[in-house]
Amino acid sequence: MARYTGPVCRLCRREGTKLFLKGDRCYSDKCAFNRRPVPPGQHGQGRRKVSEYGLQLREKQKMRRAYGLLEKQFRLYFNKASRIKGVTTGEALLQLLELRLDNVVYRMGLGVSRAQARQLTLHRHILVNGKKVNIPSYQVKPGDEITVKEDSQSIDIFKAVKENGVSNVPKWLEMNADKLTGKVLQKPERDDIDLTLEEHLVVEYYSKL
Ligand code: SF4
Repeated sequence: MARYTGPVCRLCRREGTKLFLKGDRCYSDKCAFNRRPVPPGQHGQGRRKVSEYGLQLREKQKMRRAYGLLEKQFRLYFNKASRIKGVTTGEALLQLLELRLDNVVYRMGLGVSRAQARQLTLHRHILVNGKKVNIPSYQVKPGDEITVKEDSQSIDIFKAVKENGVSNVPKWLEMNADKLTGKVLQKPERDDIDLTLEEHLVVEYYSKL
């Protein structure tokens, strides 16, 4: 499926927030959003009054872009989330997105960004419960064990994880950097997801369509 391949820092500037799409660079002085926190383009610095619809649209775009999805895929996640009982649609949507295999690989610290974690998954470096899974959208569930394939453990990115360990692993995941293995302990709750997103605006956006 076609993906956005343009400059990703533009997306952060467009959405007015850091989406952390470039790994270590996002935490450095080189971050384009830190240096120029205005929308891209000739009129980026002009003052604009944003309508309620505009706010909802921007929040939807922000969430979609943070997880690197196309509109059609994102809409399917929303439809699925709206059928889940027991949690709000916004939280269910975030849970579905967080439990994508590429996101879990990223959250385990095996990739510096979701885009890199997606590549690692596509290139068959990742096992789920001992079986090769190369589908970034694969939904993991509590109890699943995610490992790096033995043959792949010698590539630089995984060697660095073994040597340096990982930090900021969310509490719904367990990670053993020495063994390059992680486990999903539970579904993430809203407070476990560190993205600054107002998911109710995304729900309002789709409710009007
Ligand atoms: Fe966004 Fe990262 Fe680029 Fe900064 S460096 S603008 S956070 S993608």
